[in-house]
Amino acid sequence: MDYIDTLMRRNAEFAGEGFNPSLRMMPTSKSLIIGCVDPRVDPMDIFKLAPGEAAIFRNVGGRVNPSVVETLRILRTVTLAAGGNIGPDSNLIVLHHTDCGIKRCYCHEPRLLAEHMGVTAAELDTLEINDPYKAVALDVAALRANADVPGGYAVSGLVYDVATGKIEIGVPSSRLRPDEG
Ligand SMILES: [Zn+2]
Repeated sequence: MDYIDTLMRRNAEFAGEGFNPSLRMMPTSKSLIIGCVDPRVDPMDIFKLAPGEAAIFRNVGGRVNPSVVETLRILRTVTLAAGGNIGPDSNLIVLHHTDCGIKRCYCHEPRLLAEHMGVTAAELDTLEINDPYKAVALDVAALRANADVPGGYAVSGLVYDVATGKIEIGVPSSRLRPDEG
């Protein structure tokens, strides 16, 4: 059977059995998760999220790049337009993981990766591509330093180990920029 047929069949089951039409656009946990596209690290699975619980956006590595910053700016606009706000109970979670494919791009096509990250090839070497624990700390620091990122969030950096299924806290949760609302 064609894979799309499989997906359509599963969707018919989803729509017919457990679908909840009352879910809201704003995540019930007020949390945003930035993660990697790797299918082993789906936040829905590894955090056992419920439908509608968190907003998730994923790129290669779960890295903070210009596209992530742009998305955060758009989400701030959407949140404000919906009558919400971003406060300390809003979580911004950066999720990296071991054995990430981003290392292979770094090895084989560093220029492509530099472009994706919005840096020069020389600057790419400072982004700790090979170490998710250092990289997640770097990315949280990049969020703190970027005035375009709404400062009200509680931000944290987590690393998932694909060998154990367990997560370590790399950067404990704290206010992104305490002086901002
Ligand atoms: Zn990855």
